Amino acid sequence: MRLFLFFIFLITPFTLSAEVLRVVILGSGTPRLDIDRFSQSILVEAGDERLLFDTGRGTAIRLSQMNVNLSSVNNIFFTHLHSDHIVGFPDVLMTGWVYQREKTLNIFGPSGTKNFVDNIKDAFNEDIKIRLKKPEELKMSGLKTYVKEISDGLVYKSKNVEVHAINVDHGGGVEHAYGYKINYKDKSVVISGDTNYSEELVNAAKNVDLLVHEIAAAPSSLVKKSEKVRGIMNYHTTPRELIRIINQTKAKFTVLNHVLLLGGMTEDKVLKSINSSLSKDSKAIFGYDLLAIELTDRVNTYSVDYTK
Ligand SMILES: [Zn+2]
Ligand SMILES: [Zn+2]
Repeated sequence: MRLFLFFIFLITPFTLSAEVLRVVILGSGTPRLDIDRFSQSILVEAGDERLLFDTGRGTAIRLSQMNVNLSSVNNIFFTHLHSDHIVGFPDVLMTGWVYQREKTLNIFGPSGTKNFVDNIKDAFNEDIKIRLKKPEELKMSGLKTYVKEISDGLVYKSKNVEVHAINVDHGGGVEHAYGYKINYKDKSVVISGDTNYSEELVNAAKNVDLLVHEIAAAPSSLVKKSEKVRGIMNYHTTPRELIRIINQTKAKFTVLNHVLLLGGMTEDKVLKSINSSLSKDSKAIFGYDLLAIELTDRVNTYSVDYTK
């Protein structure tokens, strides 16, 4: 059995070959409790680097479903501090420690990120005291964090990877919300975070290889009738706005994420209306949990869920 599994691992496309940019949607949903759509979390694998964008519900579980060890993730970027984007952070921090994180965990995010991380650590004080002693004797070094509160512009640079933060327009009292652009070799990805139509994001995403953009859709009758739905639509991006965004950016491939479909809207209906309004060089699909998008000379999409 073990030999058989090993063989399967060798022949599946799940493991990433070196020098490739791959994006995995770990959570494609919203605060809504949905077993199929955990709230937002996106893993970007650039060669041998792993960067995590948001840590929504179940991030640690989704990483384990794709056979990624928590201790191999050392850079986390928050788009904003709405709970659906950070509620999975304590699990990543603490379980990563239990499973032998060795390097400092770097966390980049808007103003308030330091306070959030410090308070989460404080909240686990009792557990930390216990695990430092016998029999576990974990080392404090595995819980080391470095927090950088960012503004827009270049926020991270390594030998092959650059991450730029983009001011976006989330509204609804959220002062600091960012999208991110990740450059790796000749490929680039833009992650919108939560936002309404954002000119800054459109400018940053011109000709991007992959755009991961949030979407919210509701029938116009419902928008007219419900003040609450109108409010939600004002904080998020409608299908009509997405058509405009994709046509303006000429993004080659768009994954619709943070999926919020209200009042009987369906993925099929939304996708048809979007794709029929795009040029032949652009295409949009809906994201789902554990969808991998691999950018080589073409775009490959597949599920990285080992448990199915
Ligand atoms: Zn939000
Ligand atoms: Zn959100």
